[in-house]
Amino acid sequence: MAFESLTEKLQNVFKKLRSKGRLTEEDVKIALKEVKMALLEADVNFKVVKQFTKSVQERAVGQDVMNGLNPGQMVIKIVNDELVSLMGSETTELPIKPGNDMTVIMMAGLQGAGKTTTAAKLAGKLKAKGKRPLLVACDVYRPAAITQLQVNGEKQGVEVFSMGDKQKPVDIAKAAIGHAKEHQQNVVIIDTAGRLHIDENMMQELADIKENVQVDATVLVVDAMTGQDAVNVAKTFTDKVGIDGVILTKMDGDTRGGAALSIKAVTGKPILYVGMGEKLTDLEQFYPDRMASRILGMGDVMSLIEKVEASVDQEQAQEMSKKLKKMDFDFNDYLTSLDQMNKMGGIGSILNMLPGMGAKMKDIEGMIDESAMNRTKSIILSMTIQERSNPGILNVSRKNRIAKGAGVDISEVNRLVKQFEQSKKMMKQMPGMMGGKKGGKRGG
Ligand code: GDP
Repeated sequence: MAFESLTEKLQNVFKKLRSKGRLTEEDVKIALKEVKMALLEADVNFKVVKQFTKSVQERAVGQDVMNGLNPGQMVIKIVNDELVSLMGSETTELPIKPGNDMTVIMMAGLQGAGKTTTAAKLAGKLKAKGKRPLLVACDVYRPAAITQLQVNGEKQGVEVFSMGDKQKPVDIAKAAIGHAKEHQQNVVIIDTAGRLHIDENMMQELADIKENVQVDATVLVVDAMTGQDAVNVAKTFTDKVGIDGVILTKMDGDTRGGAALSIKAVTGKPILYVGMGEKLTDLEQFYPDRMASRILGMGDVMSLIEKVEASVDQEQAQEMSKKLKKMDFDFNDYLTSLDQMNKMGGIGSILNMLPGMGAKMKDIEGMIDESAMNRTKSIILSMTIQERSNPGILNVSRKNRIAKGAGVDISEVNRLVKQFEQSKKMMKQMPGMMGGKKGGKRGG
């Protein structure tokens, strides 16, 4: 899958960061150097990498750690934010006109990029949205292209307009618009001819169509597998023809990811869709934020971060954090933390979101069961205040009394006391969960 190697490398960088309780400027510097190498190896444009690491560095240094996150998680958050902004932040839609107003889309790209396939995929998407598309065969140089478009058009239930391979593309395009008007078709998708390389004739053909037909959006199709070549092609088309957006195909392949990460920064043009396979349904809208999470492969650390931001009571968390540091965490605090975990969807859902928690989860299996969590709560509630704050005094007769009060077997009380010690250890391992360092600022 795309990004596999980049994801793996970034995960290694973050793993090292997360194992540190506190990050020095030097730690961040070393980590960013590794991030830089990983991006370059993923074939991301050199200038883009330089600008990217500079922005992350600036934000990482001199930023208070957000309450509820540890410094390692904070760096992940910054890298994530910068990746999202690198890819354009927002999802960009094709400028499809409402109602019956006609929209003309011109597809451009090198031969083999996936232009013809993508034109048919797009037609299917628009049809599903209630539009009436017309596909137009203007690739008069590749003999198979017209047939290919006709076959795919038929599969999609979309009409294909063709005048054979003897007419000029611009004349075919003009005639197609007339045809669409006559037949109340409201999106015209023009499949143009590609070439093996950037070529003056190809550029001129596209310019001719643009001059003679009112094109609402020129969409460039590029092959993600070609990495920086795809970016260079996009830059040339942007400068010479003018494009409105890019569709990146073959993202289902083994691409290193460089094109996806560089195109917006280099050309200023957004990625609109990504091709995820050869089937005509394999076209997905491009979401910079989802792509960033996928590249980071951080389980769902981002959702965890959002949950922490949304749910944990700040003062409670700070209080808890102080107690953890002083090591006087007791059953009263355990009770509070159980309530907090409940608010956040239970400990199972939290641990599941932490990458690499699988093994540790096994150790504390008893706690993951939500009903066990409720029994735990009733056991603690059966303790006296003194017992809760000083578990050391829990002898057999006290445990028996508590078991009766909670309606459980004494073995459960014993298990809880043991688990309590274990979870105390666990929480020490991830202090970020229970409150940030020195009560930093909230918000990015
Ligand atoms: P064109 O010359 O630009 O019109 O390219 P085609 O549409 O003929 O596509 C070239 C090849 O790429 C075909 O075999 C397509 O099936 C394949 N292709 C197109 N898009 C994708 C994609 O997103 N994923 C994969 N795996 N193959 C694709």
